[in-house]
Amino acid sequence: MLRLYNTMSRSVEDFEPYQGKDVGLYTCGPTVYNYAHLGNLRTYIFQDVLKRTLLLCGYKVNHVMNVTDVGHLVSDADEGEDKMELGAAREGKTVWDIAEFYFEAFKRDMVRLNLLPPDIWCKATDHVQDQIDMVAALEAKGFTYTLEDGVYFDTSKLADYGKLARLDISGLRAGARIVVVEGKRNHTDFALWKFSPTDKKRLMEWDSPWGMGFPGWHVECSAMSLKYLGAKLDIHCGGVDHIAVHHTNEIAQTESVIGADWVKYWMHAEFLTLNSAGEDDDRRMSKSAGNFLRMDTLVERGFDPLVYRYFCLSGHYRQQLAFSWDAIQAAAKGYDRLKTRAMELRKQADLDATISEKHMAAFRKAVEDDLNMPRALAAAWGMLKDSELPDARQYATLVAMDRVLGFDFENMQAAGQEPLEQEIMDLIEQRNAARSAKDFGKSDEIRDRLAEMGIELKDTAGGTTWKKK
Ligand SMILES: [Zn+2]
Repeated sequence: MLRLYNTMSRSVEDFEPYQGKDVGLYTCGPTVYNYAHLGNLRTYIFQDVLKRTLLLCGYKVNHVMNVTDVGHLVSDADEGEDKMELGAAREGKTVWDIAEFYFEAFKRDMVRLNLLPPDIWCKATDHVQDQIDMVAALEAKGFTYTLEDGVYFDTSKLADYGKLARLDISGLRAGARIVVVEGKRNHTDFALWKFSPTDKKRLMEWDSPWGMGFPGWHVECSAMSLKYLGAKLDIHCGGVDHIAVHHTNEIAQTESVIGADWVKYWMHAEFLTLNSAGEDDDRRMSKSAGNFLRMDTLVERGFDPLVYRYFCLSGHYRQQLAFSWDAIQAAAKGYDRLKTRAMELRKQADLDATISEKHMAAFRKAVEDDLNMPRALAAAWGMLKDSELPDARQYATLVAMDRVLGFDFENMQAAGQEPLEQEIMDLIEQRNAARSAKDFGKSDEIRDRLAEMGIELKDTAGGTTWKKK
Protein backbone atom coordinates (compact mmCIF):
# COMPACT_ATOMS: atom_id res chain seq x y z
CA MET A 1 0.00 0.00 0.00
CA LEU A 2 1.43 3.30 -1.10
CA ARG A 3 1.41 5.94 1.61
CA LEU A 4 2.23 9.58 0.95
CA TYR A 5 2.55 12.68 3.08
CA ASN A 6 -0.17 15.18 2.31
CA THR A 7 0.78 18.76 3.14
CA MET A 8 -2.91 19.61 3.44
CA SER A 9 -3.52 17.20 6.33
CA ARG A 10 0.08 17.32 7.63
CA SER A 11 0.05 13.56 7.80
CA VAL A 12 1.04 10.43 5.88
CA GLU A 13 -2.08 9.01 4.22
CA ASP A 14 -2.99 5.92 2.25
CA PHE A 15 -2.87 6.86 -1.40
CA GLU A 16 -6.19 6.46 -3.16
CA PRO A 17 -6.67 8.42 -6.36
CA TYR A 18 -10.05 9.81 -7.38
CA GLN A 19 -10.41 7.20 -10.17
CA GLY A 20 -9.12 3.64 -9.78
CA LYS A 21 -5.58 3.33 -11.08
CA ASP A 22 -5.48 6.63 -12.98
CA VAL A 23 -3.38 9.37 -11.44
CA GLY A 24 -3.37 12.99 -12.52
CA LEU A 25 -0.10 14.62 -11.52
CA TYR A 26 0.64 18.33 -11.83
CA THR A 27 4.12 19.58 -11.07
CA CYS A 28 4.95 23.28 -11.08
CA GLY A 29 7.60 23.65 -13.74
CA PRO A 30 10.56 25.87 -14.38
CA THR A 31 10.56 29.64 -14.69
CA VAL A 32 12.66 30.00 -17.79
CA TYR A 33 14.50 33.26 -17.28
CA ASN A 34 17.62 31.56 -15.95
CA TYR A 35 19.10 28.13 -15.32
CA ALA A 36 17.49 25.85 -12.77
CA HIS A 37 19.66 25.74 -9.65
CA LEU A 38 20.45 22.60 -7.72
CA GLY A 39 17.73 23.38 -5.18
CA ASN A 40 15.11 23.44 -7.96
CA LEU A 41 16.52 20.23 -9.38
CA ARG A 42 16.17 18.52 -6.03
CA THR A 43 12.41 19.15 -6.26
CA TYR A 44 12.26 17.70 -9.78
CA ILE A 45 14.19 14.62 -8.67
CA PHE A 46 11.68 14.11 -5.84
CA GLN A 47 8.83 14.40 -8.34
CA ASP A 48 10.52 11.91 -10.64
CA VAL A 49 10.89 9.42 -7.79
CA LEU A 50 7.20 9.93 -6.99
CA LYS A 51 6.18 9.33 -10.58
CA ARG A 52 8.39 6.24 -10.88
CA THR A 53 6.98 4.88 -7.63
CA LEU A 54 3.42 5.37 -8.89
CA LEU A 55 4.35 3.50 -12.07
CA LEU A 56 6.00 0.73 -10.05
CA CYS A 57 2.79 0.42 -8.05
CA GLY A 58 0.83 -0.10 -11.25
CA TYR A 59 -0.76 3.34 -11.59
CA LYS A 60 -1.26 5.04 -14.92
CA VAL A 61 0.15 8.52 -14.55
CA ASN A 62 -0.90 11.52 -16.57
CA HIS A 63 1.78 14.08 -15.79
CA VAL A 64 1.48 17.75 -16.68
CA MET A 65 4.26 20.26 -16.19
CA ASN A 66 3.99 23.96 -16.95
CA VAL A 67 6.69 26.23 -18.25
CA THR A 68 6.53 29.71 -16.79
CA ASP A 69 7.63 31.80 -19.73
CA VAL A 70 5.54 34.86 -18.97
CA GLY A 71 7.53 37.56 -17.31
CA HIS A 72 6.76 37.72 -13.63
CA LEU A 73 7.87 39.96 -10.89
CA VAL A 74 10.90 39.43 -8.72
CA SER A 75 8.95 39.07 -5.49
CA ASP A 76 5.86 37.07 -4.65
CA ALA A 77 4.20 40.30 -3.60
CA ASP A 78 3.37 41.59 -7.07
CA GLU A 79 6.05 44.24 -7.06
CA GLY A 80 9.59 44.68 -8.25
CA GLU A 81 11.05 44.12 -11.68
CA ASP A 82 9.98 41.59 -14.28
CA LYS A 83 12.18 38.48 -14.24
CA MET A 84 11.94 37.69 -17.91
CA GLU A 85 12.61 41.24 -18.98
CA LEU A 86 15.54 41.41 -16.54
CA GLY A 87 16.97 38.28 -18.18
CA ALA A 88 16.51 39.75 -21.66
CA ALA A 89 18.18 43.03 -20.69
CA ARG A 90 21.05 41.14 -19.01
CA GLU A 91 21.77 39.06 -22.08
CA GLY A 92 20.74 41.43 -24.86
CA LYS A 93 18.20 38.97 -26.27
CA THR A 94 14.46 39.01 -26.81
CA VAL A 95 12.27 37.63 -24.04
CA TRP A 96 11.20 34.82 -26.39
CA ASP A 97 14.84 33.84 -27.03
CA ILE A 98 15.49 33.85 -23.31
CA ALA A 99 12.52 31.59 -22.65
CA GLU A 100 13.51 29.16 -25.40
CA PHE A 101 17.16 29.05 -24.37
CA TYR A 102 16.48 28.30 -20.70
CA PHE A 103 13.70 25.85 -21.48
CA GLU A 104 16.15 23.88 -23.62
CA ALA A 105 18.72 24.09 -20.81
CA PHE A 106 16.13 22.76 -18.39
CA LYS A 107 15.25 19.84 -20.65
CA ARG A 108 18.96 19.05 -20.95
CA ASP A 109 19.21 18.91 -17.15
CA MET A 110 16.21 16.59 -17.08
CA VAL A 111 17.88 14.21 -19.52
CA ARG A 112 21.14 14.27 -17.58
CA LEU A 113 19.29 13.42 -14.37
CA ASN A 114 17.12 10.73 -16.03
CA LEU A 115 13.94 12.61 -15.16
CA LEU A 116 10.96 11.14 -16.99
CA PRO A 117 9.46 13.82 -19.22
CA PRO A 118 5.86 14.89 -18.49
CA ASP A 119 3.10 13.66 -20.78
CA ILE A 120 2.16 17.26 -21.42
CA TRP A 121 4.40 20.32 -21.35
CA CYS A 122 2.36 23.49 -21.30
CA LYS A 123 3.75 26.97 -21.73
CA ALA A 124 2.02 29.86 -20.02
CA THR A 125 2.32 32.00 -23.16
CA ASP A 126 0.42 29.37 -25.17
CA HIS A 127 -2.44 29.53 -22.68
CA VAL A 128 -3.10 33.21 -22.14
CA GLN A 129 -6.73 32.88 -23.29
CA ASP A 130 -7.33 30.08 -20.76
CA GLN A 131 -5.96 32.36 -18.07
CA ILE A 132 -8.14 35.26 -19.19
CA ASP A 133 -11.16 32.92 -19.11
CA MET A 134 -10.28 31.94 -15.55
CA VAL A 135 -10.01 35.55 -14.39
CA ALA A 136 -13.32 36.30 -16.13
CA ALA A 137 -14.95 33.36 -14.31
CA LEU A 138 -13.64 34.67 -10.98
CA GLU A 139 -14.89 38.14 -11.84
CA ALA A 140 -18.35 36.77 -12.71
CA LYS A 141 -18.46 35.08 -9.29
CA GLY A 142 -17.54 38.31 -7.52
CA PHE A 143 -14.08 37.36 -6.29
CA THR A 144 -12.19 40.22 -7.96
CA TYR A 145 -11.67 43.96 -7.78
CA THR A 146 -9.68 46.26 -10.00
CA LEU A 147 -6.98 48.68 -8.97
CA GLU A 148 -4.90 51.06 -11.05
CA ASP A 149 -2.23 48.44 -11.73
CA GLY A 150 -4.30 45.30 -12.11
CA VAL A 151 -7.16 42.96 -11.27
CA TYR A 152 -6.92 41.41 -7.80
CA PHE A 153 -8.36 38.42 -6.01
CA ASP A 154 -10.19 39.35 -2.83
CA THR A 155 -9.03 36.68 -0.40
CA SER A 156 -11.54 37.76 2.26
CA LYS A 157 -14.32 36.34 0.07
CA LEU A 158 -13.05 32.84 0.74
CA ALA A 159 -13.73 31.40 4.19
CA ASP A 160 -10.90 28.88 4.06
CA TYR A 161 -8.23 31.00 2.34
CA GLY A 162 -4.76 29.92 3.45
CA LYS A 163 -5.81 26.42 4.58
CA LEU A 164 -2.84 24.70 2.90
CA ALA A 165 -0.28 26.91 4.61
CA ARG A 166 -2.44 27.19 7.75
CA LEU A 167 -1.93 30.89 7.52
CA ASP A 168 -2.89 32.96 10.50
CA ILE A 169 -5.09 35.29 8.48
CA SER A 170 -6.19 37.50 11.35
CA GLY A 171 -2.58 37.77 12.44
CA LEU A 172 -1.54 38.68 8.93
CA ARG A 173 -4.31 41.25 8.65
CA ALA A 174 -3.61 42.87 11.97
CA GLY A 175 0.15 42.69 11.61
CA ALA A 176 2.21 45.70 10.71
CA ARG A 177 3.29 44.24 7.40
CA ILE A 178 3.92 46.73 4.64
CA VAL A 179 1.12 46.95 2.13
CA VAL A 180 3.06 47.00 -1.12
CA VAL A 181 0.24 47.71 -3.51
CA GLU A 182 -1.83 50.82 -2.90
CA GLY A 183 -5.49 49.96 -2.45
CA LYS A 184 -5.17 46.25 -1.80
CA ARG A 185 -8.05 45.28 0.44
CA ASN A 186 -6.24 42.52 2.28
CA HIS A 187 -2.59 41.81 2.76
CA THR A 188 -3.04 38.37 1.16
CA ASP A 189 -4.86 39.61 -1.98
CA PHE A 190 -2.93 38.90 -5.15
CA ALA A 191 -2.89 39.95 -8.79
CA LEU A 192 -4.82 37.96 -11.38
CA TRP A 193 -4.06 40.30 -14.25
CA LYS A 194 -1.46 43.06 -14.22
CA PHE A 195 -1.72 46.08 -16.50
CA SER A 196 1.16 47.15 -18.68
CA PRO A 197 2.68 50.43 -17.51
CA THR A 198 1.35 53.43 -19.36
CA ASP A 199 4.76 55.01 -19.82
CA LYS A 200 6.58 52.11 -21.45
CA LYS A 201 5.82 49.16 -23.64
CA ARG A 202 6.36 45.73 -22.15
CA LEU A 203 8.15 43.10 -24.22
CA MET A 204 5.42 40.57 -23.43
CA GLU A 205 1.84 41.78 -23.16
CA TRP A 206 -1.62 40.71 -24.23
CA ASP A 207 -4.98 42.35 -24.65
CA SER A 208 -7.72 41.37 -22.21
CA PRO A 209 -11.21 42.53 -21.19
CA TRP A 210 -9.48 44.61 -18.47
CA GLY A 211 -6.79 46.14 -20.65
CA MET A 212 -3.34 45.43 -22.01
CA GLY A 213 -1.14 43.44 -19.63
CA PHE A 214 -0.16 39.98 -18.50
CA PRO A 215 -1.54 37.28 -16.21
CA GLY A 216 -0.50 36.89 -12.57
CA TRP A 217 1.83 33.96 -11.97
CA HIS A 218 -0.56 31.78 -10.00
CA VAL A 219 -3.25 31.86 -12.68
CA GLU A 220 -1.33 29.78 -15.20
CA CYS A 221 -1.11 26.68 -13.00
CA SER A 222 -4.80 26.83 -12.09
CA ALA A 223 -5.91 27.38 -15.68
CA MET A 224 -3.64 24.79 -17.30
CA SER A 225 -4.15 22.19 -14.61
CA LEU A 226 -7.94 22.45 -14.99
CA LYS A 227 -7.62 22.31 -18.75
CA TYR A 228 -5.48 19.17 -18.90
CA LEU A 229 -6.28 17.31 -15.69
CA GLY A 230 -9.82 18.37 -14.85
CA ALA A 231 -11.38 19.55 -11.59
CA LYS A 232 -10.40 16.44 -9.65
CA LEU A 233 -6.64 16.42 -9.42
CA ASP A 234 -4.90 13.63 -7.54
CA ILE A 235 -1.46 15.06 -6.83
CA HIS A 236 0.01 18.53 -7.09
CA CYS A 237 3.69 19.01 -6.30
CA GLY A 238 6.21 21.72 -5.81
CA GLY A 239 8.85 22.98 -3.44
CA VAL A 240 7.98 23.97 0.14
CA ASP A 241 8.49 27.60 -0.89
CA HIS A 242 5.32 27.26 -2.98
CA ILE A 243 3.08 26.49 -0.01
CA ALA A 244 2.45 29.89 1.51
CA VAL A 245 1.79 31.93 -1.62
CA HIS A 246 1.78 30.15 -4.97
CA HIS A 247 -0.13 27.00 -4.05
CA THR A 248 -2.30 28.84 -1.55
CA ASN A 249 -3.38 31.19 -4.33
CA GLU A 250 -3.79 28.40 -6.86
CA ILE A 251 -6.22 26.76 -4.43
CA ALA A 252 -8.10 30.02 -3.88
CA GLN A 253 -8.58 30.59 -7.61
CA THR A 254 -9.36 27.03 -8.64
CA GLU A 255 -11.73 26.16 -5.81
CA SER A 256 -13.56 29.47 -6.29
CA VAL A 257 -14.11 28.57 -9.94
CA ILE A 258 -15.07 24.90 -9.51
CA GLY A 259 -16.90 25.39 -6.23
CA ALA A 260 -15.44 22.22 -4.70
CA ASP A 261 -12.27 20.77 -3.22
CA TRP A 262 -9.66 20.38 -5.92
CA VAL A 263 -6.39 18.52 -5.17
CA LYS A 264 -6.42 15.31 -3.14
CA TYR A 265 -2.72 15.19 -2.23
CA TRP A 266 -0.37 18.16 -1.97
CA MET A 267 3.28 17.16 -1.87
CA HIS A 268 6.32 19.36 -1.34
CA ALA A 269 10.06 18.88 -1.37
CA GLU A 270 12.17 20.56 1.26
CA PHE A 271 15.02 22.96 0.56
CA LEU A 272 18.54 22.22 -0.42
CA THR A 273 20.57 24.34 1.95
CA LEU A 274 24.05 25.67 1.50
CA ASN A 275 24.84 25.24 5.16
CA SER A 276 24.04 22.59 7.65
CA ALA A 277 20.35 21.92 8.20
CA GLY A 278 18.71 24.25 10.65
CA GLU A 279 20.24 27.42 9.27
CA ASP A 280 17.76 30.15 8.61
CA ASP A 281 15.79 30.23 5.40
CA ASP A 282 17.89 32.95 3.81
CA ARG A 283 20.57 30.36 3.26
CA ARG A 284 18.31 28.26 1.09
CA MET A 285 19.38 28.08 -2.50
CA SER A 286 17.49 30.77 -4.30
CA LYS A 287 17.58 31.88 -7.89
CA SER A 288 16.85 35.52 -7.27
CA ALA A 289 19.93 35.73 -5.08
CA GLY A 290 21.87 35.65 -8.34
CA ASN A 291 24.75 33.48 -7.27
CA PHE A 292 23.80 29.85 -7.36
CA LEU A 293 24.97 26.38 -8.19
CA ARG A 294 23.57 24.55 -11.17
CA MET A 295 24.11 21.25 -12.93
CA ASP A 296 26.94 22.61 -15.06
CA THR A 297 28.76 23.66 -11.88
CA LEU A 298 28.94 19.98 -10.91
CA VAL A 299 29.81 18.79 -14.41
CA GLU A 300 32.60 21.35 -14.69
CA ARG A 301 34.06 19.91 -11.50
CA GLY A 302 34.05 16.48 -13.04
CA PHE A 303 30.96 15.00 -11.41
CA ASP A 304 28.56 12.79 -13.29
CA PRO A 305 25.09 14.44 -13.08
CA LEU A 306 23.75 11.18 -11.66
CA VAL A 307 25.97 11.74 -8.62
CA TYR A 308 23.58 14.56 -7.81
CA ARG A 309 20.62 12.21 -8.22
CA TYR A 310 22.31 9.76 -5.83
CA PHE A 311 23.02 12.61 -3.42
CA CYS A 312 19.35 13.65 -3.41
CA LEU A 313 18.20 10.06 -2.87
CA SER A 314 20.40 9.90 0.20
CA GLY A 315 18.07 12.31 2.02
CA HIS A 316 14.32 12.13 2.57
CA TYR A 317 12.50 14.67 0.42
CA ARG A 318 10.72 16.16 3.43
CA GLN A 319 13.95 16.98 5.19
CA GLN A 320 16.34 19.75 4.33
CA LEU A 321 19.42 18.51 2.56
CA ALA A 322 22.68 20.31 3.18
CA PHE A 323 24.82 20.85 0.12
CA SER A 324 28.60 20.86 0.50
CA TRP A 325 31.40 19.73 -1.75
CA ASP A 326 32.36 17.13 0.85
CA ALA A 327 28.84 15.73 0.73
CA ILE A 328 28.92 15.62 -3.07
CA GLN A 329 32.30 13.92 -2.93
CA ALA A 330 30.88 11.29 -0.58
CA ALA A 331 27.87 10.80 -2.86
CA ALA A 332 30.22 10.38 -5.83
CA LYS A 333 32.00 7.60 -3.97
CA GLY A 334 28.76 5.82 -3.18
CA TYR A 335 27.43 6.26 -6.69
CA ASP A 336 30.66 5.06 -8.32
CA ARG A 337 30.64 1.95 -6.16
CA LEU A 338 27.04 1.24 -7.11
CA LYS A 339 27.67 1.86 -10.80
CA THR A 340 30.82 -0.25 -10.86
CA ARG A 341 28.97 -3.11 -9.26
CA ALA A 342 26.05 -2.65 -11.66
CA MET A 343 28.38 -2.69 -14.67
CA GLU A 344 30.10 -5.84 -13.38
CA LEU A 345 26.76 -7.53 -12.86
CA ARG A 346 25.54 -6.42 -16.27
CA LYS A 347 28.06 -8.77 -17.82
CA GLN A 348 26.27 -11.63 -16.05
CA ALA A 349 22.85 -10.46 -17.25
CA ASP A 350 20.52 -13.36 -17.88
CA LEU A 351 16.99 -12.81 -19.13
CA ASP A 352 15.85 -15.96 -17.33
CA ALA A 353 17.14 -14.83 -13.94
CA THR A 354 14.36 -14.16 -11.44
CA ILE A 355 14.40 -11.23 -9.08
CA SER A 356 14.77 -11.77 -5.37
CA GLU A 357 11.27 -11.31 -3.95
CA LYS A 358 12.67 -10.87 -0.47
CA HIS A 359 14.95 -7.96 -1.35
CA MET A 360 12.43 -6.42 -3.73
CA ALA A 361 9.82 -6.48 -0.97
CA ALA A 362 12.17 -4.58 1.35
CA PHE A 363 12.81 -2.04 -1.38
CA ARG A 364 9.13 -1.59 -2.17
CA LYS A 365 8.28 -1.25 1.49
CA ALA A 366 10.71 1.65 1.70
CA VAL A 367 9.51 3.52 -1.39
CA GLU A 368 5.87 2.94 -0.53
CA ASP A 369 6.51 4.45 2.90
CA ASP A 370 6.30 8.05 1.69
CA LEU A 371 9.21 7.60 -0.73
CA ASN A 372 11.83 6.70 1.82
CA MET A 373 14.74 6.65 -0.61
CA PRO A 374 17.55 6.48 1.95
CA ARG A 375 16.02 3.20 3.13
CA ALA A 376 15.40 2.08 -0.46
CA LEU A 377 19.05 2.69 -1.32
CA ALA A 378 20.05 0.73 1.77
CA ALA A 379 17.80 -2.11 0.59
CA ALA A 380 19.55 -2.07 -2.80
CA TRP A 381 22.95 -2.25 -1.09
CA GLY A 382 21.72 -5.01 1.21
CA MET A 383 20.72 -7.04 -1.84
CA LEU A 384 24.06 -6.46 -3.55
CA LYS A 385 25.85 -7.69 -0.44
CA ASP A 386 23.80 -10.86 -0.22
CA SER A 387 26.41 -13.46 -1.12
CA GLU A 388 23.73 -16.18 -1.34
CA LEU A 389 22.12 -14.42 -4.27
CA PRO A 390 23.74 -15.29 -7.62
CA ASP A 391 25.04 -12.43 -9.76
CA ALA A 392 22.45 -12.84 -12.50
CA ARG A 393 19.64 -12.59 -9.93
CA GLN A 394 21.33 -9.63 -8.24
CA TYR A 395 21.39 -7.88 -11.59
CA ALA A 396 17.75 -8.67 -12.35
CA THR A 397 16.74 -7.36 -8.92
CA LEU A 398 18.85 -4.22 -9.30
CA VAL A 399 17.23 -3.49 -12.67
CA ALA A 400 13.80 -3.83 -11.04
CA MET A 401 14.80 -1.44 -8.25
CA ASP A 402 16.35 0.91 -10.78
CA ARG A 403 12.89 1.59 -12.21
CA VAL A 404 12.52 3.86 -9.17
CA LEU A 405 16.17 4.70 -8.43
CA GLY A 406 16.34 5.99 -11.98
CA PHE A 407 20.01 5.49 -12.82
CA ASP A 408 19.12 3.37 -15.84
CA PHE A 409 22.03 0.97 -15.38
CA GLU A 410 20.51 -1.27 -18.02
CA ASN A 411 21.08 1.19 -20.84
CA MET A 412 23.86 3.22 -19.34
CA GLN A 413 26.55 4.38 -21.68
CA ALA A 414 28.96 4.37 -18.79
CA ALA A 415 31.15 7.43 -18.98
CA GLY A 416 34.81 6.53 -19.35
CA GLN A 417 33.80 2.94 -19.89
CA GLU A 418 31.69 2.90 -23.00
CA PRO A 419 34.14 4.89 -25.17
CA LEU A 420 36.80 2.48 -24.00
CA GLU A 421 34.62 -0.47 -24.89
CA GLN A 422 33.99 1.09 -28.25
CA GLU A 423 37.73 1.57 -28.72
CA ILE A 424 38.36 -2.07 -27.80
CA MET A 425 35.67 -3.27 -30.19
CA ASP A 426 37.17 -1.14 -32.97
CA LEU A 427 40.64 -2.55 -32.34
CA ILE A 428 39.33 -6.11 -32.30
CA GLU A 429 37.60 -5.48 -35.59
CA GLN A 430 40.83 -4.10 -37.10
CA ARG A 431 42.72 -7.10 -35.81
CA ASN A 432 40.16 -9.51 -37.30
CA ALA A 433 40.46 -7.70 -40.63
CA ALA A 434 44.27 -7.98 -40.43
CA ARG A 435 44.02 -11.68 -39.64
CA SER A 436 41.71 -12.44 -42.54
CA ALA A 437 44.11 -10.50 -44.76
CA LYS A 438 46.84 -12.71 -43.24
CA ASP A 439 48.69 -9.60 -42.04
CA PHE A 440 49.91 -11.29 -38.87
CA GLY A 441 52.42 -8.57 -38.08
CA LYS A 442 49.61 -6.04 -37.76
CA SER A 443 47.36 -8.50 -35.97
CA ASP A 444 50.04 -9.13 -33.31
CA GLU A 445 50.69 -5.42 -33.00
CA ILE A 446 47.02 -4.79 -32.19
CA ARG A 447 46.98 -7.69 -29.72
CA ASP A 448 50.01 -6.16 -27.93
CA ARG A 449 48.38 -2.77 -27.86
CA LEU A 450 45.25 -4.23 -26.29
CA ALA A 451 47.40 -6.09 -23.79
CA GLU A 452 48.92 -2.76 -22.78
CA MET A 453 45.39 -1.49 -22.16
CA GLY A 454 44.85 -4.49 -19.86
CA ILE A 455 42.67 -6.39 -22.32
CA GLU A 456 43.11 -10.07 -22.86
CA LEU A 457 41.79 -11.60 -26.09
CA LYS A 458 40.49 -15.07 -26.66
CA ASP A 459 39.92 -16.37 -30.15
CA THR A 460 37.13 -18.93 -30.30
CA ALA A 461 35.18 -20.60 -33.05
CA GLY A 462 32.40 -18.06 -32.48
CA GLY A 463 34.72 -15.07 -32.76
CA THR A 464 37.01 -13.07 -30.54
CA THR A 465 36.03 -12.32 -26.97
CA TRP A 466 37.85 -10.11 -24.52
CA LYS A 467 38.13 -9.56 -20.83
CA LYS A 468 40.00 -7.28 -18.51
CA LYS A 469 43.15 -8.81 -17.06
ZN1 LIG B 1 2.42 26.29 -10.11
